[in-house]
Amino acid sequence: MKLFVLVLILLVGVVFLGGPGAQAWSKEGHIMTCRIAQALLRPGAAEAVHNLLPEYVKGDLSALCTWPDQIRHWYKYRWTSSLHFIDTPDNACTFDYSRDCHDPHGSENRCVAGAIKNFTSQLLHYQEGTSDRKCQSKPENCISWIGSSEFWEQRKFNGFEISTAEGNLKKEFSPPKEYNLTEALLFLSHFMGDIHQPLHVGFTSDEGGNTIQLRWFRHKSNLHHVWDREIILTALKEMYGKDMDLFQEDIQGNFTHGIWSDDMSSWEDCDDLLSCPNKFLPLFFLLLYYTRYAAESINLACKWGYKGITPGETLADDYFSSRFPIVAKRIAQGGVRLAMTLNTVFGEHDQEIPSPT
Ligand SMILES: [Zn+2]
Repeated sequence: MKLFVLVLILLVGVVFLGGPGAQAWSKEGHIMTCRIAQALLRPGAAEAVHNLLPEYVKGDLSALCTWPDQIRHWYKYRWTSSLHFIDTPDNACTFDYSRDCHDPHGSENRCVAGAIKNFTSQLLHYQEGTSDRKCQSKPENCISWIGSSEFWEQRKFNGFEISTAEGNLKKEFSPPKEYNLTEALLFLSHFMGDIHQPLHVGFTSDEGGNTIQLRWFRHKSNLHHVWDREIILTALKEMYGKDMDLFQEDIQGNFTHGIWSDDMSSWEDCDDLLSCPNKFLPLFFLLLYYTRYAAESINLACKWGYKGITPGETLADDYFSSRFPIVAKRIAQGGVRLAMTLNTVFGEHDQEIPSPT
């Protein structure tokens, strides 16, 4: 009987951990992205983030940046599973929102770029509420009353089982409910990391490199996982004595006064890179930006991820040393851009986010 239970546990583990697209930018990648972002927040955004986080994390956004990976297989959140990545046509090496941003069943907007749009739009409603928006302590304080058309869009987006006509829906679900802005913040922070992992915008047939089996130094891995975690873990072990703080400081040093300080301005189209996260950008540009982030990722995936890879081969020092700078830079970009987005969303503005084209 014990053996049966053990086998069952192992099988469940395989189903949950080994499915297509089940892996994600590693815990370490997400934590560093969120720490970099939080350090660049303006006072208004820092306060909003603090208000939205549950008290037990004591204002530390990075403590919950991996939450969307932890809940993606829960029944309630299964609809979020396709929001972690984008499948693009094999070898096209381009991203086209209307062509590529959908889930395996063809539902529009259900990809990581659509998720960033969705949760950014939701967070814009923060300004309408009271100052106390902590869902955990007072769920009613999370309510953000919104227009009914947005509400129905949201219900559909959230994957509720909808088979009736919209008119019936309005009757069934009236009055409109709320957005959960704490969840929106956690999803946005996580997906801004994922969209910068080049293999999260990969080819369709190999599931972003997940089915390309190979070896990383001495152990078995796959191409997707190399980019999610192996490169980061090898760097942590070999270069930073397993100290993530040192790794993060190195990344931050590179964009404040190091190798990226010259080109950082181009990350956000700002004249001065360090001023970018502090700028209030027109919301319209946010929409252009997340399609650009996805396009950058598939471009890097083609040039540095897939190029020259033979299934079954062993990747080691050469691959690590040439790709590590790209991984570090994408973590930095994710952090800087998350800060810019949150500073814009929680800043003063009077514009609406337009629909994606
Ligand atoms: Zn993810």
